Amino acid sequence: MDNLLDNVLYQDAIGQLESAASAMNLDPNILDRLRYPKRSLTVSVPIRLDDGTVKTFLGYRVQHNMTIGPGKGGIRFHPNVDLAETAALAMLMTFKCALVGLPLGGAKGGIKVDPRELSRQELQALTRRYATEINMMVGPTVDIPAPDIGTDGQTMAWFLDTYSQLKGYTVPGVVTGKPISVGGSLGRAESTGKGVAFCVKFAADYLNYKINENTKVAVHGFGKVGVPAAVDLAAQGAKIVAVSDVSGGVYDPNGLNLQEAVEWTKSGKLLADLYPDKKISNEELLELDVDILVPAAIDGVVTKENAPRVKAKIIAEGANGPLTKDAVEICTKNGAFIIPDILCNAGGVIVSYFEWVQGLQNFFWDLDQINSKLYSILKEAFDNVIKCHETYKVDMKQAAFIAALQRLANAMRVRGLFPA
Ligand code: GLU
Repeated sequence: MDNLLDNVLYQDAIGQLESAASAMNLDPNILDRLRYPKRSLTVSVPIRLDDGTVKTFLGYRVQHNMTIGPGKGGIRFHPNVDLAETAALAMLMTFKCALVGLPLGGAKGGIKVDPRELSRQELQALTRRYATEINMMVGPTVDIPAPDIGTDGQTMAWFLDTYSQLKGYTVPGVVTGKPISVGGSLGRAESTGKGVAFCVKFAADYLNYKINENTKVAVHGFGKVGVPAAVDLAAQGAKIVAVSDVSGGVYDPNGLNLQEAVEWTKSGKLLADLYPDKKISNEELLELDVDILVPAAIDGVVTKENAPRVKAKIIAEGANGPLTKDAVEICTKNGAFIIPDILCNAGGVIVSYFEWVQGLQNFFWDLDQINSKLYSILKEAFDNVIKCHETYKVDMKQAAFIAALQRLANAMRVRGLFPA
């Protein structure tokens, strides 16, 4: 477990936790218990490839803290996945769920794999074998996975089917982010991006900044989170000037044709091929002269190296950990207002929670209900973070951790320690 601290994301999560703990004078016994995950599992996941050979992948499921409720968190298929990254992301889920007041704990899973290199059949085999290997750790009252980078509704449907085959009956509540036809929720697919756009609106209101046609937005990671965030920010009146994916991005200071970019991306084409004369790199996009930057791809894209060149006034962390701890300090010092990941991208897990509740009740809500409940939960959490930001005079990242810790520490205290 000690080598968890070799991972930057884990180090940064611990660093944020420690800074917040010291600012709020947190009981050191509570802090100590939060440094490591409650439980973690490493599994090997062998599958037969289409060419008949067998290949073995490494998979993980980590439950960081389940004081407030069952574990909750996505499953990531990505070449960078390892135990430390999964543990760091599980820790972020604990604080995310606590911050937005969900009755859920924090967990995360993943497989070290590049899903783009596997066929659909191979991905199905991988998902089903992984679900079988971590079966003893998940369940609708135990730990409920969801999509993350490299996974989607189809992955969740295979997971649900495998878990249900093992049980002998259908268990829709074992995962969220499912297709609607097997008990998914309306609005779940867009919820993370929608939450990002809501948070940008709250931030603009707080800063007395009016979003209008002169507001320039750059979105790093024009995918499951970035697309709906861009669409909603454009609906608020902002101008989307740059978007990017793994291949690089496109930039037009006068504003992009968003509809065209969305359709291009949705048809599976790479943005680098969209407008050859408007091409920029991912690195360039992060440093553009824009008002709002939405890093919505992956962790660690803004570091102490490029942070001094980031010009955006509002940085909305759509991904988990897109700014390193050093980058947060540099950007904050340079006057940027950072909307922390555990608040900014919490829309996904909030609607996952709605999906779970709807599944348990077998009673489904309409989209207006979902979006208005999402809005009010995020607004309350945003106001709470601002209150901590002003009361403790700490940056927004620390303020979000403090707000989460107030709730979590209370729950840990009142439950006590077993054995007493
Ligand atoms: N993977 C998403 C996250 O990082 C969603 C998790 C969930 O819905 O459980 O927040």
